[in-house]
Amino acid sequence: MSDRFAYDPDREAKNEARAKALEALLIEKGVITAKTVDTVNSFFQNEMGPFNGAKVVAKAWTDPQFKARLLADANAAIEELDFPPFMSGAEGEHMKVAENTDTVHNLIICTLCSCYPWPTLGLPPYWYKDPTFRARAAREPRAVLKEFGVDLDDSVEVKVWDSSAQIRWWVLPKRPDGTEGMGEEELAALVTPEAMMGVAVVEANPPRTGYDPAAQGF
Ligand code: FE
Repeated sequence: MSDRFAYDPDREAKNEARAKALEALLIEKGVITAKTVDTVNSFFQNEMGPFNGAKVVAKAWTDPQFKARLLADANAAIEELDFPPFMSGAEGEHMKVAENTDTVHNLIICTLCSCYPWPTLGLPPYWYKDPTFRARAAREPRAVLKEFGVDLDDSVEVKVWDSSAQIRWWVLPKRPDGTEGMGEEELAALVTPEAMMGVAVVEANPPRTGYDPAAQGF
């Protein structure tokens, strides 16, 4: 993805080095401890992340009444489920969910900065904060979606939602065909953060992604 918006190929490595240098300096100055960073990292790995949003999506796909409540008042509907506290805090205040249908595809951005529903989607990817992505997604969403691999029919309306501190948008993706027999847990495993941002669709048989030791020859 590094060349999609004309980024330096080593952009992520540079950012990582900068973050490590800042962390070392803050620890050296006694502003934070090494444990502070571990605690925050663990929070976003285990408590607040896209696995929460995926559970909400799977529940909405299998329970039409819950879906209606989710679309009407996302925070109140999420409160009904068995989640850790803070779902409505830590950038989760004022969440609003937009539903993808056969005729409407939703895309979330933050034109001002990087507002994003952390409790349900996790921390935003770096490109979400990039001025080029933010500008292009607002100006030519269909072209940007196509670059992400979402090639929409002209008959599908694209709606772009601009998140802010007042409303943090995310997307209820379409349930894919071929998942009729699946339970909530199985469905949740199909839902990616990208699908909940609107830059991907959910597939019934997603290709295997991420780090695969076997593919590396180990
Ligand atoms: Fe923002």
